[in-house]
Amino acid sequence: MGSPTTVKRRLNELGLRSRLRARPRAQGRVLAPAGMFKRLPTTAGLYFPFYHDVPAEYAGDLRRQLRTFGRLGPLVSWDDALDVLAGRRPLTGPMFCLSFDDGHLSWRDVVAPILAELDVPATFFLTSGLVGRPGNLTWSDCRDLAAAGHHFGSHTVTHPRLADTGDDAARREIAGSKWEIEDALGVEVRDFAAPYGNPAVDFGGRELRIVREAGYRSFATTLRAAMHQGDSPMWIQRQGLHPAWPSWAVRTRVHD
Ligand SMILES: [Zn+2]
Repeated sequence: MGSPTTVKRRLNELGLRSRLRARPRAQGRVLAPAGMFKRLPTTAGLYFPFYHDVPAEYAGDLRRQLRTFGRLGPLVSWDDALDVLAGRRPLTGPMFCLSFDDGHLSWRDVVAPILAELDVPATFFLTSGLVGRPGNLTWSDCRDLAAAGHHFGSHTVTHPRLADTGDDAARREIAGSKWEIEDALGVEVRDFAAPYGNPAVDFGGRELRIVREAGYRSFATTLRAAMHQGDSPMWIQRQGLHPAWPSWAVRTRVHD
């Protein structure tokens, strides 16, 4: 932070970024030139592409992106990805592990049919307090996704920026959502994704400690680099994508 000019410029950048997020095709076109000299992965590396809401108008785009990943290497479950990191499963080329954040109704109506069609497993990081709210899944929807073979992780109760919360609130958000999802779905929840996910601003060592204490085995960030055998499951690096992005924009996030 510095002079009022710096602050103003920063606010303008944030404004531009949120306007672009609301218009994902435009955002993809802005990102694309930076992908010109990058290529989709061809060497051994574990990638964790993730998405949020997938409105029906982007169904074809999501299918196209997942097919592209599938041509490069297998799309594996979260369990299998952790096996790769632990060295229990080989990593011989690009490998992808798909996840979705928050709790969008489109997971039921748009995402699940595409995953079934392509036979791709996914992990859904659920903000437990959103369940049953307008535009979000009900617990019954979540049980259907679990019955279809998909996996659930926790994404807190209310989606705060954890770094801004007190110790008790952070514990409630991290452990409370685990218990809530476990009670509602009857499955064990051992994987956590931090809201916003940037270690520079959104979480720190305290959150990692609370997550371990609560009994989780993995912690997902939004850092983007490919992962390899021996990397920590408590520092999963994921690549945030939007299905509306053209291939060049995807390559700014998922590349060798
Ligand atoms: Zn989120």
